[in-house]
Amino acid sequence: MTDQEKIIYADNAATTPVSAAVFRAMEPYLTTYYGNPSSIYSVGRKAKRALEEARDEVARCLNAEPGEIYFTSGGSEADNWAIKGAAHQLAKKGKRHIITTQFEHHAVLHTCAALEKEGFEVTYLQVHSNGLVRPEELKQALRDDTALVTVMYANNEIGTLQPIAEIGAICRERGVLFHTDAVQAVTNVPIDVKQQQIDLLSLSAHKFHGPKGVGVLYCRKGILLPNLIDGGAQERGKRAGTENVAGIVGLAQAMKDACAGMQERSERLTRMRDRLIGEVLKIERSRLNGDPDQRLPGNVNFCFEGIEGESLLLLLDMHGICASSGSACTSGSLDPSHVLLSIGLPHAVAHGSLRLSFSDQNTEDDIDAILAVLPGIISRLRAMSPLWEEIQTGAVQYDIQKF
Ligand SMILES: *Cc1c(COP(=O)(O)O)cnc(C)c1O
Repeated sequence: MTDQEKIIYADNAATTPVSAAVFRAMEPYLTTYYGNPSSIYSVGRKAKRALEEARDEVARCLNAEPGEIYFTSGGSEADNWAIKGAAHQLAKKGKRHIITTQFEHHAVLHTCAALEKEGFEVTYLQVHSNGLVRPEELKQALRDDTALVTVMYANNEIGTLQPIAEIGAICRERGVLFHTDAVQAVTNVPIDVKQQQIDLLSLSAHKFHGPKGVGVLYCRKGILLPNLIDGGAQERGKRAGTENVAGIVGLAQAMKDACAGMQERSERLTRMRDRLIGEVLKIERSRLNGDPDQRLPGNVNFCFEGIEGESLLLLLDMHGICASSGSACTSGSLDPSHVLLSIGLPHAVAHGSLRLSFSDQNTEDDIDAILAVLPGIISRLRAMSPLWEEIQTGAVQYDIQKF
């Protein structure tokens, strides 16, 4: 790609650029009102007030109380605090069982794995071929010693939205804590922690045009979690350390802006998304991963038989298109995405995946530009692929649409 070429950024599920409004809101708290919020003079008091206004704003967007909002260093920290905190707290009452799903973000899966090493038992609910868990299977998995259920709101790879209110109702009725990693969902779908009966919720600013390194754990009033960081009295003594004031101000501004425009943006992105899906599925032996309707407005995830996701990303990059594949490159070996395997795709198919994720900064022109190059790139890659040759000669017999 040459420098003059416009970049088409279609990887908003990985991170987003800080918006101009957010940048403007943050700047004074880095330069002018740099005081420590715990100080009593006016530059400190200004910072303190900004912090509390940010807390109010975040609470408003979730229908929570300001006293239920804890600022963290991001989504991973909030997930760790919620899950390890709830597990350790309830282990004191003999509850050592946790329920989650097979396709959580690694911030949840690896946290659960760490708890298994400590002797906790974890049930991993199956994610069905449409990328959704079934509430009746959750009901069956609940036990008398279940401490916590943690189910992500929206999946970061395939964008599917779980039946959160239903899960919340089941957990509340059984007296089990319910945590949701809502990092991908916040600002994209309406969230009401009271109505949906959510006890613990994680979110992260950099997924909705806020800065990196700042997030929130919502913890319902009355739920006791152990302190995350001991030290000063910040975050009501639960998470010590001088607050990331500018980051927190940026988070709140981004959340306010994004929640205000949610309906209109969602409709626009859904139209763009569905046009893209319709066109891309005209490519032979391609499939859409995850439910076509129960998914984030800005997320599409495809598999193309006979190609490698990584090669596809490199060729898209040469056309200035930033996208992602489900697969993560771990220590030199290419493992297919655990999310795509969890919905029942074979390794060979899961390897040929492409995730495109859009935000309000994308336009129909971006979709046109992607559609102008994608089919050609796939043909080129298939022409070089031994696997595609096998598919062509009929050695591979399955129907990619039917997994
Ligand atoms: C990005 C992401 C996280 C991690 O958030 P950070 O702020 O980057 O730590 C956790 N869960 C999901 C679903 C995510 O998409």
